[in-house]
Amino acid sequence: MTNDIIEDFLSFNPNGLYCKYGDFYIDPVQPVANAVISHAHADHAIPGNTNIYCTEATHAFMKLRYGKNAGKAFNIAAYNSNFNIRGVAITFISAGHMLGSAQVLMEYSGVKYLYTGDYKLQPDATCEPIEWGNADILITESTFADPAILHPDPVAEIKKLNDIKSNILLGAYGLGKSQRLINMINEHAPQKKILVHHRIMPINAIYEKMGFAPGKCQIYGRKLMKNQEEFVYIVPPFTFDSYIKATGVKRLFASGWKNLQVNLQDTLFISDHVDWNDILQAISHIKPTQIWTLHGNGMHLKKYFGDDIFVKILN
Ligand SMILES: [Zn+2]
Ligand SMILES: [Zn+2]
Repeated sequence: MTNDIIEDFLSFNPNGLYCKYGDFYIDPVQPVANAVISHAHADHAIPGNTNIYCTEATHAFMKLRYGKNAGKAFNIAAYNSNFNIRGVAITFISAGHMLGSAQVLMEYSGVKYLYTGDYKLQPDATCEPIEWGNADILITESTFADPAILHPDPVAEIKKLNDIKSNILLGAYGLGKSQRLINMINEHAPQKKILVHHRIMPINAIYEKMGFAPGKCQIYGRKLMKNQEEFVYIVPPFTFDSYIKATGVKRLFASGWKNLQVNLQDTLFISDHVDWNDILQAISHIKPTQIWTLHGNGMHLKKYFGDDIFVKILN
């Protein structure tokens, strides 16, 4: 079957990643007629598309963020149930990245193309675990596709909070990362009292409704933090940056990115993406004959697989 691979099955144009055989985009960057949305992070889910295909949780998050402008017609698909866009059979497979995140499996003239979207292998109690399907073509994000990037154990990272006796200001993206942190702190640093920025509360409510309650936390109040009581105040990036001179608190930013850490000492490496070893593991599950890379640097994968697996860099 693999000789039926269509080399231009997916290609980039100014609107984003396009499948001309089904006339749809995956995670378009401009509003389009047919949009398959892998998950609700803002760089993947923009408002204003006409027909949107996504999971129920992704729909809920897009409605919360964009309201009436979220898009015209939402077609909700559950994981592992098949639907069709102009002859391309599509299945969402859990990506383990955040609640509702999906890999997009596309089958067309006997060939399986699997777009991972953002995905992770690390355990995360606040979302569905990643699932594996075989594919001929793996279209993978390559944000951290570099042998030099290995994410540390997230539990060991979160346990660092136990050694900090002052109040903590913890920067994190509001959607997905914050809920994972609330859950992990409850589990691994249970004496900490978690405060959250008011913008995080409605997101938590959706998690709860979907059966993934993040765990104990309360909305931030200015008076609370006056006492040194092992508070952890979780704030989105813009608020975190505005507290740059805050005194009496330890500032940490939870991310897989080195350059988002506060400094070399105050690090909290918790990533919701695959690192180098995770990508290799994913490839061993999916067993593709070709790998197409996007979002990042595919050169390391190309070098690593040499003549064994054909690697094409899409962006
Ligand atoms: Zn994401
Ligand atoms: Zn992303």
